[in-house]
Amino acid sequence: MNLDNIRIVLVNTTHPGNIGGAARAMKNMGLSRLYLVAPHRYPDEQADWRAASAVDLLDNAVVTATLDEALADCQFIVGTSARERRIPWPLLDARQCADRVGQASAREQAAVLFGREDRGLTNEELQVCNLHLNIPTSSDYSSLNLAMAVQIVCYELRMLGAAQWPAVQDAVWDTPFTTRDNMERFYAHLEQTLVELEFLDPAAPRQLMSRLRRLYGRVRLDEMELNILRGILTETQKWVARARRAPPAG
Ligand code: SAH
Repeated sequence: MNLDNIRIVLVNTTHPGNIGGAARAMKNMGLSRLYLVAPHRYPDEQADWRAASAVDLLDNAVVTATLDEALADCQFIVGTSARERRIPWPLLDARQCADRVGQASAREQAAVLFGREDRGLTNEELQVCNLHLNIPTSSDYSSLNLAMAVQIVCYELRMLGAAQWPAVQDAVWDTPFTTRDNMERFYAHLEQTLVELEFLDPAAPRQLMSRLRRLYGRVRLDEMELNILRGILTETQKWVARARRAPPAG
């Protein structure tokens, strides 16, 4: 995915504070491309105030007179809506939608549209969209504040990206994770040792090695850990050999 290929489009926003809030929500989550279609009041100091350290997004925002101009080069478009519309449309929640937008963004220009505070997006605007996104809410009150809806969508996009990047833990790990090659050598060594120990009967291995593979696969060994385990196996083999050479006790 590529967050730089995803634009957030606010249509006919009434309150400049919501524009600022949306900019902040975007910047917090690593998105940067804000499009404003015919905003009522903009620029406005309330927008700057709510944006806090995200005023750079406001400075770089693209302001257009029509939705068509904002979407001209987009290949994948999602419209957000607080309620079911007359014509049912492919409808996903924010997480499912983030998945689709994220995939598209790898190679395409994608947009997520947000509507007016008082009446959302028109049916006509929703019908230019490939998908509709609904954030599940209490049925008592389904309409979120505009900037908060932007926050949730951007958060899901960020989480999707995070799942594809190396985990933070991996990035700061002190030793490289071992290769598949080394793991195969380790499994051969482990199997050999378990046979020598007579823990594993080669005639009836059952699922033992599969289960051990699953176990080590779950934790992912780094090179140091792998070397420690290999050392333990080698010592174990020596002790087994020594025990075999020794005369039976008693
Ligand atoms: N009365 C309007 C509410 C608009 S809220 C309506 O029924 O559509 C302003 C904008 O915030 C919406 O157009 C949409 O972009 C976003 N939004 C608010 N609540 C949402 C929800 N539950 N799911 C998805 N988007 C939502």
